[in-house]
Amino acid sequence: MTDTVIDRFLRYVVIDTQSDAKSKTTPTTEKQKTLGKLLVEELLAMGVSDAHLDEHGYVYATVPSNVDKPVPVICFCSHMDTAPDFTGTNVKPQIIRNYQGGDIRLSGDPQQVIRVSDHPVLLDQIGNDIITTDGTTLLGADDKAGVAEIMSAAQILMDNPDIKHGAIRILFTPDEEVGRGADKVDLKKLGARFGYTIDGETAGHIEDETFSADGVEITIAGVAIHPGFAKGKMENAIKIAGAIIDRLPKDIAPESTEGREGFIHPTGVTGTMEKASLSMIVRDFEDEGLATKEALIEGIVKQVIAAYPGSSYTFEVKQQYRNMKAILARNPEITDNALEAVRRAGMTPVRGSIRGGTDGSRLSFMGLPCPNIFAGGHAFHSPLEWVSRQDMERAVNTLVELAKVWEERV
Ligand SMILES: [Zn+2]
Repeated sequence: MTDTVIDRFLRYVVIDTQSDAKSKTTPTTEKQKTLGKLLVEELLAMGVSDAHLDEHGYVYATVPSNVDKPVPVICFCSHMDTAPDFTGTNVKPQIIRNYQGGDIRLSGDPQQVIRVSDHPVLLDQIGNDIITTDGTTLLGADDKAGVAEIMSAAQILMDNPDIKHGAIRILFTPDEEVGRGADKVDLKKLGARFGYTIDGETAGHIEDETFSADGVEITIAGVAIHPGFAKGKMENAIKIAGAIIDRLPKDIAPESTEGREGFIHPTGVTGTMEKASLSMIVRDFEDEGLATKEALIEGIVKQVIAAYPGSSYTFEVKQQYRNMKAILARNPEITDNALEAVRRAGMTPVRGSIRGGTDGSRLSFMGLPCPNIFAGGHAFHSPLEWVSRQDMERAVNTLVELAKVWEERV
């Protein structure tokens, strides 16, 4: 067994750890424990003596502090599962050494080409070693790159007592891709003050902000009557639902927004003449933006239903998750230390926002403030997924520097 981050990565990606949203068990798929067990063995072999896999498929381990002064315990967290969107069975990683530019054609499926025009970040990878799949599976750099990077950082900290650091808790979770990675985390047992998910993309990027998210459920009760005798009486709930959907603003949709813009997105509609249900999700970086969009939706519903005097509606907003920035802003040193670590690892840090939620946003609200650090992977959840060795090494260096920064700044 060898110890470089790329060797680790190649060992982990060939283990199928796809999670399954339909499963009721934790982990959602038993096979995720195969990787969990291997990680525990490797941690024990490097001297991390408390490493273990719990009954829910989570790996916990501690790189102990090697200084006398009290340093806040921080946690490095990555997820072991891969997305259900594309198969993760029989991954055959391909290595392009010393990439010289140009499109990358994948050997197992001629239709699959990583084009520079679609992935301009490839232009920053000239001379690097790029790992792809053969085009028939996803790679699982999301998030086995993060797992391999944490493992390599742990190895460096264990092997080099001259690097001063506080206690580092390692947490590998199952089921992040199906939104359940934070469900069974035992934060008391974890005992960390602050955390970092290593699950971002481009080298140098730190994300300390996620969407705030609500779900909206609308039901419409129409007036049902035999269609042969319906004139002037029928109010078809299906048509009312259709009219509401049609009036949703086209410029506040996922397909027409980017950056820090929020959106309204219908996710489900079912109906009969007498009753229809509409599900939507609402996303924004600010709580006021959510409220404005929800008022806008209800305004549309009222306007539409006004033309149907016999019909009625219900409108319910359910909170899903909130922007972690609200939590992270209370402890600015968490993000500041990460930015400093990126700088010390030789990159210019870029601070960004995630147009979605992460386990980090859930962990932040559960009591473990948790920004997201890059792991280096690109084109997640697809057969075009790729990552470079050099970016994974940059992430390892960032984690080691981060451990040092926390120790220095106490
Ligand atoms: Zn991920």
